[in-house]
Amino acid sequence: MLLSAPAFALALGFATLLRPMTDANRSSEPSTRAQILSDPLSGREVIFAPARTKRPGNHEALREPAAPDEAENCPFCEGREQETPPELFALGTEKGRAPDTPGWKVRVVPNLYPAFERQQVVVHTPAHTRSLADLSDEQLVLIAASWAEAAERAWAQGFDHLLAVINEGVAAGASRPHSHSQLVWLDRLPPEVAAEAPRLRRDGCALCALLHDLDPALKLAERKLGDSTVSLAVAATGRAPYELLVAPDDHQPDAFGSGELLAAALALAAEGVRRLNAVEGASPFNLWLHNFQADGHWHLELVPRLNTYAAIELGGGIFINTLLPEEAATRLREASL
Ligand SMILES: [Zn+2]
Ligand SMILES: [Zn+2]
Ligand SMILES: [Zn+2]
Repeated sequence: MLLSAPAFALALGFATLLRPMTDANRSSEPSTRAQILSDPLSGREVIFAPARTKRPGNHEALREPAAPDEAENCPFCEGREQETPPELFALGTEKGRAPDTPGWKVRVVPNLYPAFERQQVVVHTPAHTRSLADLSDEQLVLIAASWAEAAERAWAQGFDHLLAVINEGVAAGASRPHSHSQLVWLDRLPPEVAAEAPRLRRDGCALCALLHDLDPALKLAERKLGDSTVSLAVAATGRAPYELLVAPDDHQPDAFGSGELLAAALALAAEGVRRLNAVEGASPFNLWLHNFQADGHWHLELVPRLNTYAAIELGGGIFINTLLPEEAATRLREASL
């Protein structure tokens, strides 16, 4: 099919093609350049270009509404344990419960279609629930405990890294709407974690510095546990609008060793999603834990998927963020929950 000239221009993403190239507008090309920022944790390059669009989202990017028969056909719901591979373990179980039967709060099963030698699914709740944002703190404690239990098993079997991730929404790559996380056992640090490791050593940690000097305007919430504080903030150099960062303020490498702090971090991430949803509508997102067994500073990164990554991001490695972090934080803070 041939596209009309304007449609062709839109398909290319070049609005300028619509303008006739005269000498006048050729010379009026804007010469101000946005500053390229470097993310202190990863070294990733980010440009804030807020003039490109008023709102970061387009309606198609929002989460798909629930299908009418979604819960009826959901293999993760309590009572359909036979529809998943046999469970590895479950938490919050009733006394005398047999494996792969009802009576659990969190259930860990092998991934039916693993891409890795070991890849597991943590089913976050027995009742059909579509988002991390809708889980109780008690449930998040059990989820954190299940990640820690899996990590212990991975270390015991000689694996070096456990990559814990949550995808929510089709646009974020989720295959099932029932809230769950995935755990990938690796025999090395994945490249993104390996790239951060030298920047996050105790001696000169970029995340300690970031949190110490954090602009109060970017901070959304915190939770205190004993001497430790976990903070939720808008990422100052996020690659995406509303990108969030959750981390303990003090330098701690291993989240799995401090399950309570990890649960607090998940609760803060859930609050971040609730605020995001209040501002933009039900938003797809990716969330992951960057963990370090040796030296490093663990943290969660939450990347909303309201925008599409294009060639400058994927081919150039330069991320164009259309929403200034201060503006994102203002909107999220003022969201009525
Ligand atoms: Zn379900
Ligand atoms: Zn640190
Ligand atoms: Zn990270």
